[in-house]
Amino acid sequence: MTIIESSSDSKTEPTDFQFEDGSLLDASCKQVIADSVTHILMAVGDGVDAKGTADTPKRVANLYDELLSGYSTDPVELLNNAMFDVEYDEMVVVKNIDFYSLCEHHLLPFYGKAHVGYLPNQKVVGLSKIPRLVEMFARRLQVQERMTQEIATIIDELIEPIGVGVVIEAQHLCAAMRGVRKPNTVMTTSAVRGMFKKNASTREEFFSHVHRN
Ligand SMILES: [Zn+2]
Repeated sequence: MTIIESSSDSKTEPTDFQFEDGSLLDASCKQVIADSVTHILMAVGDGVDAKGTADTPKRVANLYDELLSGYSTDPVELLNNAMFDVEYDEMVVVKNIDFYSLCEHHLLPFYGKAHVGYLPNQKVVGLSKIPRLVEMFARRLQVQERMTQEIATIIDELIEPIGVGVVIEAQHLCAAMRGVRKPNTVMTTSAVRGMFKKNASTREEFFSHVHRN
């Protein structure tokens, strides 16, 4: 075992940065993150390039404010003015929604595509809103299975469709870079509600849309 100790001439105190309040993290929370990153850099030891990493704690703190901004998104506000009454009663499918999230186990990215379908019950939602709902849950600390269910649930609650289905295909850097080291492995998860759950042919119709190129 190697024990890495900071030498006496290396940095021993975190820097106070000038932060502005972010959409999720206020200035004091950002400073807490920055201090923590400083401690990580100090713990790694003398091999760390002090010049190159001087502003890294500040950058990482601002980065987390952006990557985790989904915690501060209000879904009701997000859908405001974007619900439309329609007679349309066929399936609506929004495919290939790119997303980037962070796994809650390693704080490493997982990313891929989400596919969402629903059967409207007199109401449809503006096309851009489905990707924004996906983003709201992606920009949190996540596990893919839970994120899939959360997207299905929020659509079920807010749009009140006859049924909804969500499929997520993603690659996890924690599996690609470490552990099993299997790059290009894609994990697929799905969640179905209402008619998508009850009716096999509705579910099949959705999955055939998703799998069609
Ligand atoms: Zn992970």
